Amino acid sequence: MVAPFTREWKSGHCYAVSVGGFRFTCIRGCTACCDQRGFVYLTEADLKRAAAFLGMTARAFERLYVYRTRHLLRLRKPRASQCPFLTANGCSIHPAKPTQCRTFPFWPELVGDAAAWKETAQYCPGIGQGRLISIENVLRRANEMRESYPEMYEPRTAVQTRTYSRPIRRASSSSSRQRSYSARTTSSP
Ligand code: SF4
Ligand code: SF4
Repeated sequence: MVAPFTREWKSGHCYAVSVGGFRFTCIRGCTACCDQRGFVYLTEADLKRAAAFLGMTARAFERLYVYRTRHLLRLRKPRASQCPFLTANGCSIHPAKPTQCRTFPFWPELVGDAAAWKETAQYCPGIGQGRLISIENVLRRANEMRESYPEMYEPRTAVQTRTYSRPIRRASSSSSRQRSYSARTTSSP
């Protein structure tokens, strides 16, 4: 089934649709996106998967690593880094990393906007490299992101206003990064 979001994009303006897909490959050893300032949001399924990966109960994982608000779950941020699971060797929960991390850089707000995509490429060296990711795959991942974090994308709520509208979480010099509600994601280990 084609999600309404995809239909809407296919009939309207979307940068990814207009260029027919993107070249992208995650660069081995890179953790640049995990180092961007911002929050890593979790779905309930993300929380359970990461807990199981670490051999913990969901409750214990949440107590240690998660900050829960009425609408959102996010990883607690250590003082010295952007994510508790970022190590010198990459993501320590790579096989169970949150949806936000797994779908980066194919977030709706990035693939739909030429300026945001190009500014993301300034810190993500994998953009523009590797094989062509088809438009279907790009939109599938963007849809997954949108459906996994509905409070971020629709309808407009107080949460969305706070976290998704600009300016937002990703405090950096890049205006497009400020449009994204968070930054730290990676496809690499
Ligand atoms: S991939 Fe996500 S969970 Fe893993 S270190 Fe990076 S930001 Fe943290
Ligand atoms: S997705 Fe993240 S880890 Fe992979 S190349 Fe881009 S910035 Fe680096």
